[in-house]
Amino acid sequence: MNVPPPTAAPLTGPLTVTGTAVSLAGIHKSFGPHVALRGVSLDVRPGEFVALLGPSGCGKTTLLRALSGLDRIDAGTISIDGTDVSRVPVDKRDIGMVFQSYSLFPHLTAAQNVEFGLRMRKVDAARRAVRVQEALDMVGLGDRGGRYAHELSGGQQQRVALARALVTRPRVLLLDEPLSALDAKVRVKLREQIRRIQRDLGITTVFVTHDQEEALAVADRVAVMHDGVIEQIGTPEELYRRPVSPFVADFVGLSNVLEGVARGAEIEVCGRVLPVLGPPVEGDVSVYVRPEDVAFTLDSGGVDATVVASSFLGSLRRTSVRLADGTIVAVQHDASDRREPDEAVRLRFAGYPVVVRPR
Ligand code: ATP
Repeated sequence: MNVPPPTAAPLTGPLTVTGTAVSLAGIHKSFGPHVALRGVSLDVRPGEFVALLGPSGCGKTTLLRALSGLDRIDAGTISIDGTDVSRVPVDKRDIGMVFQSYSLFPHLTAAQNVEFGLRMRKVDAARRAVRVQEALDMVGLGDRGGRYAHELSGGQQQRVALARALVTRPRVLLLDEPLSALDAKVRVKLREQIRRIQRDLGITTVFVTHDQEEALAVADRVAVMHDGVIEQIGTPEELYRRPVSPFVADFVGLSNVLEGVARGAEIEVCGRVLPVLGPPVEGDVSVYVRPEDVAFTLDSGGVDATVVASSFLGSLRRTSVRLADGTIVAVQHDASDRREPDEAVRLRFAGYPVVVRPR
């Protein structure tokens, strides 16, 4: 007798899934004395692509494993589509997963790997064949179904892993650093492909990465994690332009940290007055300024500095300069504007500080 699949999605018809809301509330998880998650709450909207971003050890994988059901949580609630699944085992949560290491079964072909989940769900052979071909076509490997893992590149193996995760039409897709073993060009191509497929399917997705460029490039929203908590969640633009803390300002993009003195809605930095965004501050502050918000100027009112080094970055250049007090400042500017070490320059501040913190 056929066992009904645990998935709510039908097993025939077009390969689409409707978006599902995922909600994590007050998640705590410890490993012995080590607290890995300290009351994490996160709401992922139906069809949304959320990246968990943070340095090694901040708890990203622990949060993903908690959501998948691979690990039990100590406290908190996990719900999918409004149903509490906190105590539902991993194979009943209807979640597709792709991990960092290539996890294909080496003794099975690509098609057999993709077919595996359908066999487990006792889908009949004819329907399995159609579904496997659909899934392989979706990842652009429709003609490679007969290959074994060792006959596929790393990027192709991860695409097979993605097809395998999606073939059962899960409600949620979890990706744990799926690109980190790949070289830079393949990473960029594959992340774009993942994003396209995710959008086409409308599948709610949580993606773990420690690579800020990757997170900002693909996600609808990024949750920046730090020491077992989500420090900020927002769109890539919100995180970059309005980081809530020095940690986020440092982790997402580059920042110059300058000393200043705040007086309400203004701060004096290097003898120049800059506006403050957000609540007024008073007294000695650290001021975080993005490299593209500092520019060279010929104006005699500019801040004197000396060029230390300049790096060519394709369409732009990043030049580090030393101020009179020894502070090093990065300036991002047009690549055609070449600066030489020891050259005397003047700077102006062209934008708002992204963070202002009492010192
Ligand atoms: P990375 O980017 O390095 O994978 P991460 O942000 O995913 O890091 P986690 O793997 O979630 O971090 O780990 C969070 C913390 O919990 C770390 O300090 C880690 O050492 C600890 N930890 C994770 N799994 C276990 C475990 N099974 N036993 C003991 N400690 C663990």
